[in-house]
Order: sequence, then structure tokens, then C-alpha cells
Amino acid sequence: MSPAITVGVISLLNCKQKKTSSKTDIDMDKVVAEARKNWAGNYSYKAKTLRTPNTVEELQDLIKESVKQKALGSKHCFNNIADSPTEQISTKNLNRLISIDEDAKTVTIESGIRYGELAPQLQEKGYALHNLASLPHISVAGACATATHGSGVTNGNLPSAVTTIELVTADGQIVELNREQPDFYGAVVGLGALGIIARMTLDIEKTYNVRQDLFQNLPVAELQEHFDEIMSSGYSVSLFTDYQNDTVSQVWVKSRTDRKLKDFGSFYGASAATKKLHPITAMPAENCTDQMGVEGPWYERLPHFKMGFTPSSGKELQSEYFVAKENAAEAYMALVGIKDVIFPQLMISEVRSIAADDYWMSPCYKRDCVTFHFTWKQNWPQVRKILGRIEETLSPFGVLPHWGKMFTLEPATLYSRHKKMDDFVLLAKKYDPKGKFRNSFLDLNVYRT
Ligand SMILES: Cc1cc2nc3c(=O)[nH]c(=O)nc-3n(C[C@H](O)[C@H](O)[C@H](O)COP(=O)(O)OP(=O)(O)OC[C@H]3O[C@@H](n4cnc5c(N)ncnc54)[C@H](O)[C@@H]3O)c2cc1C
Repeated sequence: MSPAITVGVISLLNCKQKKTSSKTDIDMDKVVAEARKNWAGNYSYKAKTLRTPNTVEELQDLIKESVKQKALGSKHCFNNIADSPTEQISTKNLNRLISIDEDAKTVTIESGIRYGELAPQLQEKGYALHNLASLPHISVAGACATATHGSGVTNGNLPSAVTTIELVTADGQIVELNREQPDFYGAVVGLGALGIIARMTLDIEKTYNVRQDLFQNLPVAELQEHFDEIMSSGYSVSLFTDYQNDTVSQVWVKSRTDRKLKDFGSFYGASAATKKLHPITAMPAENCTDQMGVEGPWYERLPHFKMGFTPSSGKELQSEYFVAKENAAEAYMALVGIKDVIFPQLMISEVRSIAADDYWMSPCYKRDCVTFHFTWKQNWPQVRKILGRIEETLSPFGVLPHWGKMFTLEPATLYSRHKKMDDFVLLAKKYDPKGKFRNSFLDLNVYRT
């Protein structure tokens, strides 16, 4: 019998037969119930089976055995990037912290660990990561594979912390890549195209505390005038807006308390929030991380949402667009120009900054970026039309989409704007010559076949 657990029609029986009170079995029931859909429920995976190895050796065996497969992390992508025509391999049970190297200031982990599982273990040992995304529920390898990011003008995206990956390639062998090797820069933000990352090493630093100060109703005129200063007013800054009024509804400023705190004074005409807020002002804020200037550990402040809670109902779609930092204010105003198009399907939009990196497939490759994120109602036919308008509107700024969210940009446009796409395709073919990890997303957007 295969050492790994198969989830699908057959494994449903297996899980029921094996029902005990062990944590694994409880989790398996949940996986079976949710297995065929992504987190938001807008996409049903076509892969017939889902395999869940418990060790790296099991992962290697599975990869060797199968002809077609794709890694599945925590299922938080909104499109079909993690799907496979045949088989998905979940890294869910590869979720251990392996070791901390105190001299090198690095942590080595199994790839399926979620940031929310890793962070408290690092904190316990006195360490921290440089940044986190808006929620901690996502797997480290899945997040890095799609260039997931938080905010902060000096903060690179989450993969910028990666120092080494151990990649299981199509023949089941492990290839180790680190920052000294050119292939590393193609492989980390790898869209799951090169193989399945089994283990990763990340930079860590001494733990730090963060406080969140929120401001409301920032005049757009001030934003236009002081875009860079506002985005630099804390370690990590997010703007929440619906583009409708002459104001940005909320500014979230996350400041490290081990660094000199900015004197906010009057915040560019915005007023300090008088109570805890959800990014959508009308929604209850109890699932959000603590605000009102209350200091707390990095991992309980950098994400907007707490680990123990579902960040929202999940009945939503997301898109996110990257433009170079120098175009940010102009791009914002261009979006204001189509606010009536955007509004009917919009739940909220978030603006963030990300520092440049060296990853070939990162939208921030060699350029500091600002991103425009959109949380949409789950109405794809309407949202799809709006995305076309947004992409057209931001086209003069060479806009690129988040790989894990919804977009409609043509593959030829992606190709013309991702300068290292050819090198990436060559690299993917080097590690996956028979296309074991190819799926329809990669065929369309990367291989363009
Ligand atoms: C509520 C919500 C909030 C979000 N917030 C943010 C945010 O703040 N910032 C942001 O940038 N994005 C955000 N995202 C998007 C999300 O973080 C990314 O799409 C990320 O890829 C999700 O990771 P995952 O493990 O769930 O990936 P999955 O959807 O499971 O997989 C994504 C890709 O990673 C590959 N992959 C997974 N594991 C491996 C592995 N071990 N080896 C090789 N390839 C692998 C898969 O094959 C696939 O191509 C958010 C998504 C949701 C649903």
C-alpha cells in the first residue's frame, strides 16, 4: 500500500473506515469535505486524486510514480494555478519546523507549514520573519511560489526571505538551490512548475513588536501629493479604499517598536480611528489583529486577520495588480477615473508597497512596486468585465497581475512584461523535461502552447 493517503472517491471510504479521534483523521475528514474546491469556493479542482504524503521520502516516491501532478498548498489561490489534470500532491502534512540556525539566523522548515503555524514557534525561540501577508493561514511554499507579499516600502515579498530550497524534481530526486546559484532566482517564485519544494530555509531576525495605528478619511488630494511619504509612514502601510469619495477610507500603519516611531501628528488630514476597524468599515472587527496602538508580537500585528479565525466568509474573489512605485499616484487616480465601473462588484480595495526583488517571475522583479488589490463579490461574469477595464486602464503603467488571483491579461502581454519569461520556461523544462508539473494555467500563461 502506498504510504501516502489518497483523498478522492477511494480515500473517502478510507477516511471513514479509519475514523478515530486522532488529529490527523479529524483533519482528513475536513480535507475530504473541502478537497475539490479552493479556499474561496470559486474553483473546483479537476484533479482526480489528491495525495497527502507525511514525509519527504513519501513525497519523492509519489512524484517518481506519477506521470502528471501539481503541488497543492493551503488552496488560497483563486484561479487554477494549483490544479492538475490528474493528481495533486498536498503538502499539508509536511508542516514541521526542522531547525533554527542561530549563527546563520535562518530557519529550515517543511514546505507545507503555514505562516500561522511557524510564527509562534519562531517567537518562542526569540525570532521573527521580516513580513507576513494579510492573513497567516497560507502555506510558506505556496505563498512563495506565487510571490505573495505584505506591505512596506523597504520590505521585499515573502519569498525574499528564502535562502535555500530543496526541490523534488520529476525523477523524485532532491535538488538543493541557494542564493549562490542562478537557477535559484527562477525556482523560488516557481508557480509550482519545476517540481515540489520539500524543504526551505528562510532568513529570520530577532523578534520584534509592532503596533497598528489606523486613520480614517485620508483626503485623496493629500495622497496624490504625498504618496511616497504616506506609504513610508510605518514599517508596513496599507490603504483601504473604494475609490468613490474624495477620501481613502482607512490607512493602516504598522510600526516596529524597536525602531524610531513616526510622530503622526495630524496624519495628512486624516483622523485617528477611535475604535478597532475591519477593512470594510461596516463589518465587525473582532477577527482583525489588535489595533489602537497596542503593541504586540510581529505575527499578531503584521497580518490584518488573526490566525484562529476565518478572515471573511470566503465568498469573494480577489485580484491584484502591480505597477512600478513611481507610477503609483497616477495609477490610483486612473482607477478613480473608472470608479463607477469598479464599484458595483467591489467589496474593498487595498493599496500596498513592495520592495524590488531578483526573482524572475516576481511582478516586483528589479522594481519597487505598489499594488492595487481588489476583493470582489463572487460574481465572475461581471468581475471579469471589470478586470478588463482595470487592466486596460493600468496598461500604460506596464501592469502585472498577482499570479494567484483573478486576471484576464493576455498571455502575450504577460510575456512582454515579464522580462525573464523565456529563461523561466527553459529552467522549467530543465527540471521538468516531460511536463509532469504542467497544467492548463502554466500551458496558457507561461508555456503559451
Ligand atoms: C483571504 C486571502 C488573503 C490573501 N492575502 C494575500 C496577501 O496579503 N498578499 C498576497 O500576495 N497574496 C494574498 N493572497 C493570495 C495567496 O496568498 C496566494 O495566492 C498563495 O499562493 C496561497 O498559498 P497556498 O499555499 O494557499 O497556495 P495554493 O493555492 O495551494 O498553490 C499556489 C501555487 O503554489 C504552488 N505550490 C504550493 N506548494 C508548493 C510546493 N511545496 N512546491 C512547489 N510549488 C508549490 C502550487 O502548485 C500553485 O502553483 C490571499 C488569498 C486569500 C484567499
